Amino acid sequence: MRTRNRAVLILLHCFLGEAIARAERPPDFQCGGNAREEPAVTVNLLREAEGEIQVSWRFNTRESLWGYAFPNLPEIARYRSWLESVKDTPKQELDESWEGYALEQRIEEFVRTRRLGILRPMNCLESALLATQISRTGAESLREFVGYVLRSEVPSETKIYFLSGPNVNPPRDNLIKPMIRQDLESGWWLYAIIHNHTGPHPAAAPSASDAQYGMFWVEDGAQRFIVVNGIEAFDVSGAELKQFLHAAKRDGT
Ligand SMILES: [Zn+2]
Repeated sequence: MRTRNRAVLILLHCFLGEAIARAERPPDFQCGGNAREEPAVTVNLLREAEGEIQVSWRFNTRESLWGYAFPNLPEIARYRSWLESVKDTPKQELDESWEGYALEQRIEEFVRTRRLGILRPMNCLESALLATQISRTGAESLREFVGYVLRSEVPSETKIYFLSGPNVNPPRDNLIKPMIRQDLESGWWLYAIIHNHTGPHPAAAPSASDAQYGMFWVEDGAQRFIVVNGIEAFDVSGAELKQFLHAAKRDGT
């Protein structure tokens, strides 16, 4: 969901062999914690083709999902150490879409100065989803996932639709949109839409197109839009997202 135009060559053969096994293996929702307490996860593989995966995971909600005290997930640790290793490399040498990053930096600055949303550490749930993405794409990838997080109160359950594809932008939501609408009609609520900006210069801020996209889901009841960058999470409410979008349009961001 970045606006940058960059042709990304995907080495499909690297991923296809392991893709099925990965799809069957849900994220570590204990975030490296006690495996015995790991919730039983119902996996529903919705689509898997050409480097793309669309899957849902359903499990009993645990408060620890929203906690910040968790052991490092190996994929997140790998990403952070790679980020550290490239921090002194000029951005232009790392990625030809540097101008795209410059735009995201302006958006990030905009978010900070307008004090819309909050910037906080990633929590367990966000880290687990990003770790799954990194296990698919590698630590250096710009490829983005999107996770639609639904919750129900009785019973207290969480259901996540996870979409990740072979390009920078995640797959379109045509397949899962009617499923989520049906969930909403049967008592689930849409807690958040989570999405990542990783790569060598990761902005924890939505792009203007992210905000546009998020607004469609806010109209369907999404309460939060969250962008994670491997270190922090930018977390904005639906109402704030609306403000952000109006102000961004006005300022030409
Ligand atoms: Zn984005």
